[in-house]
Amino acid sequence: MFEKLRSAFSSAVNAFTERSLSESEINDLLNKFEMDLIESDVAYEVVKNISDDLRKALANEKVKRASDISELIAEKFKHSVEDIFVRAPTIDLLAQITQKNSTGQPYVVLFLGINGTGKTTSIAKLANLLRKKGLSVVIAAGDTHRAGAIEQLSEHADRLGVKVIAQRYGSDPAAVARDAVMNAKTHHVNVVIVDTAGRIQTSKNLMDEMAKIVRVVKPDLKIFVGDALAGNDAISQAKEFQSVTDFDGVILTKIDADARGGAALSITSVTGRPILYLGVGQEYDDLVPFDPSFFTSNLFNKKAIASSS
Ligand code: GDP
Repeated sequence: MFEKLRSAFSSAVNAFTERSLSESEINDLLNKFEMDLIESDVAYEVVKNISDDLRKALANEKVKRASDISELIAEKFKHSVEDIFVRAPTIDLLAQITQKNSTGQPYVVLFLGINGTGKTTSIAKLANLLRKKGLSVVIAAGDTHRAGAIEQLSEHADRLGVKVIAQRYGSDPAAVARDAVMNAKTHHVNVVIVDTAGRIQTSKNLMDEMAKIVRVVKPDLKIFVGDALAGNDAISQAKEFQSVTDFDGVILTKIDADARGGAALSITSVTGRPILYLGVGQEYDDLVPFDPSFFTSNLFNKKAIASSS
């Protein structure tokens, strides 16, 4: 009884509600979504990758109700983002330091980045964090180019009670770094943090200088400092440094002032390197370990749901 009617009815409903999304519906949704991501400082190549993934996934999905569409996009987007962070290796800094120190050697951290991004402040913050973990630190004043760089670093170090190894302006930063490593070996210091120049006459000179320091001191960890507020500029700077020194991880600064949030996603996606810490203010304690899942849910709640509904 009623089979025919029921089947006619159900096939009409199915045709309407269980069909795959049409290409133009997918396009409209994703175009808006792409714009929202770009406005959030997500680099274009990353936006493209994410939306291509979404496009493929959505083309194959049967969606039961219109309201499920935004949920589906949200879910797929979350996966794409998590994927980016999962692919980057994790680094346990304290375990690495312990391991290196057990061989009788200091652990050497090299800082890279353009002037103004927060490199000096981040060095001071990391020194502070390590001191609080009971580790001794020496800092090498490897920016021998920028007037005031050595004094600025020394001021932070004095406040933190950390020794700075410095030479004259214009001297070879690789030699300064080597001195600091020798000093640390002699005095059984756990960690050497090496500052570097953020600008020289040409970008090539800067990159050559970084490469030389790396050859001479063979750092255990190379950290690129990126300014979240610089958006896509931070990404191109990261790529340039990476092509020469292949850094291991990132400190992303000024997160406290960054309303957009896309830089974190882009920098990990484009470089394949993990964000180790976030700079969240101007005080020494304003350095927090980066938690991808916290970031994902935050980004997701604030941005993705709003933009896909
Ligand atoms: P450098 O030229 O890369 O060494 O940059 P500095 O360490 O001198 O920092 C440049 C400016 O950015 C300074 O005024 C810092 O106080 C500020 N700064 C650094 N990190 C942060 C951060 O995480 N949040 C905020 N709000 N400001 C920061």
